[in-house]
Amino acid sequence: MKPLSLSILLLVLGSPAAPEDVVKKVGQLSIRVDESRAVPGGLMVVRLNALLGTTFAILNGTRVTFEAPHHGVRALVPIALTASPGPAVLGIELVTRQGRQRVPVDVAISPKTYPPRAVVIPLEKRPLLLDRAASRQSRMLLENLRTHSDKAEWTEPFKPPVPIAPTPTFGSPETFTGGEAVDSRMDSIFGEYHRGLDYMVPPGVAVSAPAAGTILLAESLVLTGQTLVIDHGQGVVSAFFHLGRIDVQEGARVEAQAPLGVSGDSGLSPYPHVHWGVYLHGVAVDPTLLGEALAE
Ligand SMILES: [Zn+2]
Repeated sequence: MKPLSLSILLLVLGSPAAPEDVVKKVGQLSIRVDESRAVPGGLMVVRLNALLGTTFAILNGTRVTFEAPHHGVRALVPIALTASPGPAVLGIELVTRQGRQRVPVDVAISPKTYPPRAVVIPLEKRPLLLDRAASRQSRMLLENLRTHSDKAEWTEPFKPPVPIAPTPTFGSPETFTGGEAVDSRMDSIFGEYHRGLDYMVPPGVAVSAPAAGTILLAESLVLTGQTLVIDHGQGVVSAFFHLGRIDVQEGARVEAQAPLGVSGDSGLSPYPHVHWGVYLHGVAVDPTLLGEALAE
């Protein structure tokens, strides 16, 4: 392995490594991995002491750019709900004038069990699964969920979209009565897992933005119903499904807690509720865990 260039721009980072962090040093470069949220449906927070030209973190095929100077040189690396717990290799890829160099870092994904849930699709909504527009729409939705814009729009911790506690069903493996593979048909992501938090509210309850961002998508889709996608920047995207009404337009910028619309049961929703999903580089992660990491 070639020694790293001495022309590295050294940035001072505030906090010292926590005792449980994985630290690897290569030349002048120090790589620190916070594994405290490294579970399926969670994330790894990777920090560098220096920023080279372009640097990526790669885990299980997902490639994430290091962002700077927001909170030091940091990458938030998502872990899919389908990831296997156990040892894994995080790749740190450095692209400099000297060439491309890949540094492997041994990390671990801890197991996490999510309770299964069974969902009954109402009889009158089952024909929606046969609508031929659904698969094209779900691929279009995934393209939106994979959006990456450089600037972080959030300035404070994410807030719940409605002021009640959600049902703790993020990550739950799901089975459906009245249809198969419903989750993956909605967002074109592999695996039948609940990729969001559900807030059990009646129709017509005001829904507000969890954080500032730009409206990427505000459209009625066959399966996810009245669908709203917000780009918060740096690969963090919110998605709301099954709304009753959307009051914002595509392209608009919204502040944290701005009104977005109201709850409903549009699309293939078994009952009225608000579904809020958070995607990190197109991978669904637990909004609670990501919110904590963003606040650091
Ligand atoms: Zn849901």
